[in-house]
Order: sequence, then C-alpha cells, then structure tokens
Amino acid sequence: MRTREPRLSTGLEYALRHAAEAERLLVAFDFDGTLSPIVSNYETAAPDADALETLYALAALPRTRAIVISGRAREDLEGRLENCPDDVELIGSHGAEFGSDQHETLPAVEGFASALEGIAERFPGARLERKPISLAFHFRNVTDGLQEEARAEAIERVGDSAVAVKDGKKVVEFFALQADKGTALQRYREAAAAGGESPTVTVYVGDDVTDEAAFEALGPEDVGIRVGDGPSAARHSIEMQEEVAPLLRRLHRLRSEVTAAD
Ligand SMILES: [Mg+2]
Repeated sequence: MRTREPRLSTGLEYALRHAAEAERLLVAFDFDGTLSPIVSNYETAAPDADALETLYALAALPRTRAIVISGRAREDLEGRLENCPDDVELIGSHGAEFGSDQHETLPAVEGFASALEGIAERFPGARLERKPISLAFHFRNVTDGLQEEARAEAIERVGDSAVAVKDGKKVVEFFALQADKGTALQRYREAAAAGGESPTVTVYVGDDVTDEAAFEALGPEDVGIRVGDGPSAARHSIEMQEEVAPLLRRLHRLRSEVTAAD
C-alpha cells in the first residue's frame, strides 16, 4: 500500500475518526464511479486496485464489516472484484440480490429489452443491459446531441410498464421489481442486528443518484460521503473518484489503531 496521506477536509477527517472509534463499524461502498473509475463502456469497468485492496484489509479488521452495493447484477459484480474475501458482502441489482441467492432475469425484463431493441438500433452507441430485475438503457456512447432524445424515447416506450424508472449517469433503468440501495442497506443492518452485531456506525460512499436512497437511510451517527458535487443527502463529499483510495487508506489506518488492542 502506498503511504501518501490524503488531504481531507477537517469535517471529513473528524467524521472518519468518529467512525473508526465505532464499537461495530460497517463500511458500504458503491461500485461504478466510487470503487471503480467511470468508463465509457460499462462492460470494461474495473476497480481501483489500491481502493479494493484497502477495502478488503478494512473488512479483515476486528468489529468491522464491509459491503459493496451496486446496481450491477450480483454475478457481474462478483466477476469484477477479484479475490473478494467472504467477509465482504456483495449486494447486486440495487439491493434486490443478497448473498448467493441467484436471480434469473425476470420475463418482464426481457419484455423491456425487446421493446427497446428498435430504439437501441436507431441510436448508434446505445446498449441494453439485462439484469435480474431491471433493464438498463445505456446512452453514454450515443452522439452528444442525441443522448437526451434516445433517453426520452426509451422512457416513452417502456416507462409506463416499469415499476420504477431510475436515471443514472448516462443510463436510464427500467425496473420490474421495486428495489433501492436505502432499503438494501436497512435490510443488511437489520440482519446484522438480528445476529447481535448491529453496526453502531455506518459509512456509506457513493457517487450517483441511486446512492441517495442509501444516504437518506443513514442516522445521525453515520457518515455519508458523496463522490463528486451536486445536491446530496450526504453530509460529506470528496471531489473525485481518485480520492476514494486515499479516503479508504485513512479510515483503515485509524480503524487499525483503534482495533489493535482487540
Ligand atoms: Mg456509482
């Protein structure tokens, strides 16, 4: 691990110290744009190796748990997190896929895909991604001037038949079942509490609108950190994805010191 110390805002440094001192700490990370840099083709996204290594190290500390919550299908996420230890839990499909309970793609998702095929063909660069409970329409690689039109047409075509429509960064997603990261986080914490290990502090880090539900699920003791600017329910922010690894290293160092005597 590199030793360069990040320069964090005073408020964030204070929040990390508070988190590091938790009786039981939960660190929850989004994947795209948070653990991994945003790439033009979602299929090639790979985690920042330094950030990932530090997250794994953090999860191995006493009284510390780590989870990754992503909009990606759980199986997809699993394939991108190399050597992921068992103590890092992966939650896919915005919280619809927990543990190893694998979900097949719902028939309604195939329905969205067939309905959108024509639009995807008319807008070169558009891509359809089938997930267990949703269909994602990616338009990042559509010509700049046509992106909004492609998005609007997709919503016009299948928006009404979806349970929920969620906008992300250059992607709009049509859901066949309701799921959000806030509900997922709550569900995870309740399961931990049932096992007598309720997290006393949760740190949640994410960069996108779908992470807002998770920020909103945080309590006064918790620490929400938004990657990038824009309105957010998170109390803290860092400017860019490149600051995630330094942030993790700082939290790891503080938590190591606190738990060293365990
Ligand atoms: Mg993200």
